[in-house]
Amino acid sequence: MDDMVNPTAIEAIDLVKDYGEGDTAVHALRGVNVRFEQGRFTAIMGPSGSGKSTLMHTLAGLDSATSGRIIFDGADITTMNDNQLTLLRRHRIGFIFQSFNLLPMFSAEQNILMPLTLAGEKPDRRWFDQLVRTLGLKERLDHRPNELSGGQQQRVAIARALITKPSLVFADEPTGNLDSVSSAEVLSFLKQSVKELGQTIIMVTHDAVAASYADRAIVFADGRIVADVPHPNAEQMNELLMAERERATRAAVAPSIA
Ligand code: ADP
Repeated sequence: MDDMVNPTAIEAIDLVKDYGEGDTAVHALRGVNVRFEQGRFTAIMGPSGSGKSTLMHTLAGLDSATSGRIIFDGADITTMNDNQLTLLRRHRIGFIFQSFNLLPMFSAEQNILMPLTLAGEKPDRRWFDQLVRTLGLKERLDHRPNELSGGQQQRVAIARALITKPSLVFADEPTGNLDSVSSAEVLSFLKQSVKELGQTIIMVTHDAVAASYADRAIVFADGRIVADVPHPNAEQMNELLMAERERATRAAVAPSIA
């Protein structure tokens, strides 16, 4: 069951992103082909500068591609204008950040509902209740962010990302500001959101333990995917990352023999 092929959430086809031109161009994505399934939790790993953020930003339509296509909900988003992309991000994509980005003057409940408030839309109360239950926030709804722990704040941010029932959620180092206990708690809730609520999550992380909560881990190096691991475990991911780091060091020291 777990290995069944689900419908596509988003797909990159021959995706290229260069920053700058000519001799000084940086090739951030060198022809990436990758398909993310609906209802799956994928971790994106790789050394600093390998292209993880660039992939996330181009997939989310925050940054334009140099060439290639991005198919999201059946449409090629590389052909969309800024207005179309803004609407897409507002309604169909959720974001979870390392720094939570909650509004300090508002309660947890108000923060969760903020995307709907801003859009002038009414919440689906059943979905709200389900999110609050899944994320263990029932007793915290009246609290302001500074009355919550880091882990609780990130759980509020997750609920906020999911309140519009987005087709896709991007999480950028969601446990980067959390201790290991809070990280484990947040990752379990993320995993639960995928399993119980059918959400699709793509998470960029440096942490092999964080990646082990995902259904799949993709490793980037130098703008390319160098590994695609189903059911990753932390030890295996650490070994892969270490091997990649060694290869990069050898290539930097002796480019001709790498
Ligand atoms: P990662 O997220 O894996 O750390 P990035 O996607 O941020 O990697 O970066 C990939 C490459 O693109 C790096 O060489 C980086 O320096 C370069 N890069 C990223 N953003 C820009 C930018 N706005 N202008 C120029 N180069 C950039």
